[in-house]
Amino acid sequence: EEVRSLNFIEHIIEEDLRNGYAPTSLRFRFPPEPNGYLHVGHASSICLNFGLGLRYNAPVNLRFDDTNPAKEEKEYVEAIKEDVAWLGYEWDTECYASDYFQQLYDWAVELIKQGKAYVDSQSSEEMASQKGTPTEPGKNSPFRSRSVEENLKLFEGMKNGDFKEGEHVLRAKIDMASSNMLMRDPVMYRILHKPHHRTNTDWCIYPMYDWTHGESDYIEQVSHSLCTLEFLPHRELYDWFLDQLVSKNRLRPKQREFARRNLSHTIVSKRKLLQLVESGVVAGWDDPRMPTISGLRRRGYTPESIRNFAETIGIAKRDNVVDVSLLEFHVREHLNKIAPRVMAVLNPLKLVITNYEEGKEEWLEAENNPEDDSAGYRQVPFSRELYIEQDDFREEGNRKFFRLKLDGEVRLKNGYIIKAESCTKDADGKVIEVQCTYDPKSRSGSGTEESLKKVKGTLHWVSIPHAVTAEVRLYDRLFTDPTPGAHKDKDFMEFINPDSLEKVTGYLEPSLKDAQVGDQFQFQRMGYFNVDKDSTKEHLVFNRTVPLRDTWAK
Ligand code: ATP
Ligand code: MG
Ligand code: MG
Repeated sequence: EEVRSLNFIEHIIEEDLRNGYAPTSLRFRFPPEPNGYLHVGHASSICLNFGLGLRYNAPVNLRFDDTNPAKEEKEYVEAIKEDVAWLGYEWDTECYASDYFQQLYDWAVELIKQGKAYVDSQSSEEMASQKGTPTEPGKNSPFRSRSVEENLKLFEGMKNGDFKEGEHVLRAKIDMASSNMLMRDPVMYRILHKPHHRTNTDWCIYPMYDWTHGESDYIEQVSHSLCTLEFLPHRELYDWFLDQLVSKNRLRPKQREFARRNLSHTIVSKRKLLQLVESGVVAGWDDPRMPTISGLRRRGYTPESIRNFAETIGIAKRDNVVDVSLLEFHVREHLNKIAPRVMAVLNPLKLVITNYEEGKEEWLEAENNPEDDSAGYRQVPFSRELYIEQDDFREEGNRKFFRLKLDGEVRLKNGYIIKAESCTKDADGKVIEVQCTYDPKSRSGSGTEESLKKVKGTLHWVSIPHAVTAEVRLYDRLFTDPTPGAHKDKDFMEFINPDSLEKVTGYLEPSLKDAQVGDQFQFQRMGYFNVDKDSTKEHLVFNRTVPLRDTWAK
C-alpha cells in the first residue's frame, strides 16, 4: 500500500465517518453516458471512484446515464464495460438510469400533485426568452399556474405519445427569480419520439440529467456522488429534487465536485472525439493516436501505467492541464519492467563484415530483460551481412559521436566489436553500404580479454538473411497545439498534425516472427512497441507505444 496524503474527497468522507456515517453505508458510482468511448479523462474519474471503493471496502456501481436516446448506443455500453474491466476494476452492480424511468415518472406525478411541477406548452425559444439573466429575474410562464388536474392529464398525454416533440415539457416549479439560473423552473422531461437502446419504444418522454442523476443516486443509495466541477451550480438543484423525495430512514446522497482532467496536445470530449472518428481523421475510436482507453490499449499502454498516472496526479479542485509527457513517463516506467528486449532496425543501412566467412551463421546469446531475472535468454543469429540504423553511421563524427564512423570501433549488441573501414555511396552521395572488419575474439560473454575491452558505443543490428520484416507504425501527437480544444476563435480540427502517423518497414530479429497481437517489446534503443490488431502471420504490424526517453543518448 502506497503512502500518500488524503485527497480532499477522502477528507470529506473521513469527516462523514467521524460524524456518524456507518462505514457500510459508503457506496460510489461511475456514471458514464453511453454516447462514446471512454477517454483518459474518464480514467481519472474511474480511478477516483473505484479507488475509493477499494480504500473503504465499499461497493461501486457502474451506472449508465442513458437518458438521451438520440446519442446513445449499445456499442458504447459494451465498450465502456470492457474498458473499466480492462483498467482492473470490478463494479458491484451494473445499473442503467433507464431502469428507473417508471420510478422517475411516478415521482414526477407526485411532484405535480404537490404543485411542484407543471407542464409548459411554450416553445423552447419562448422559455429561453423568459429565463432572465444572472442579474435580472426571469418571467413566469403563462402555464405556470395550470391546475394539478390539467398538469396530470397533459403529462399523461405526453407519456402516451399524444403530442409531437417540442409541444410540451414538464418543468419543476421552483423560483424564476433565483440567483442560480438552473433553479429557474428547470425542464424535467421532454418529448422525444426516438427508440431507446434498452427501453425501445416504451417511452417517448425522457427525463433530463438533473432530474435523473440525483434520483438515480438515491435509488442506488450512493453515499457520495462525485462529478466534475461544471456541475457545482447544479448541486442546489440536485439537493432541491432530493428534498422533495428523501424519506427519513434512507441515506441521502451528496454531490461533490472535482476538477476535470485535461491532457496537453489532446482532446478529452466525447463529442469532439466522435468528430475525429466521423471525419475519418483517425481510423476509429481505438485508433492508437486517440486518447480513448481503447486507443491507449491498442497503442500498448498498460492498465497499470494509466492507473499510476491517475494516482500520481491525484484530483484537484481547479481545472488544469496535465502534460501528456507524464502519461508517457508512466508507460515507459512500467514497460521497462515487463517488456522483453529485442533488436529491430527501422531505417536500415547495410553493413558487410569483410573478414567474416560468407555463408556462415552463429547464434549469439541475448538477455531478454535485464530488469527481470526470470526473463531468461534467447538466441540471435549473426552473419556477414547485417542491418544497422542509418543514423548510427557517419563517415566522420566528432568526439561525442559514439556510434560508428570510419576508422572507429563500436560493439554490436550481444556480439562483436567491429571497425568501419570504408563505405559505398549512391549517385546522390548517400551512404548505402559500410564495410567493416570484426575482431573474432571480442564476442560478448566469451570471457576473453578482447570481449572485455571497453568501447564507447553499442549498436543494435539485425542479420539480413535472418531478418523478419514488419510494418511499423510510428505515431506522433495528433495535435500540433498544446491545448487544441481551448481556443475561442479556432476550431480544434485546425490543429490536426498531418504527420501523426508514419509507416515504415522494420527489419526484426527472427524471434519476433511468432509475436501475437498485444505482445509488447522494447526494440532496443528505439522505444516500446506492441503487435497491432491488424497484424497477421504473413504481415506483422507493430505500433510504437512510446520512444525511449533518451533515444540517442549514446
Ligand atoms: P464528455 O464531454 O467527454 O462527454 P462527460 O462528462 O459528458 O464528458 P460522462 O460520460 O458523463 O462524460 O462522464 C462520466 C463521468 O466521468 C462523469 O462523472 C464525469 O464527470 C467524469 N469525467 C468526464 N470527463 C472527465 C475528465 N476529463 N476528467 C475527469 N473526469 C471526467
Ligand atoms: Mg455527462
Ligand atoms: Mg457528455
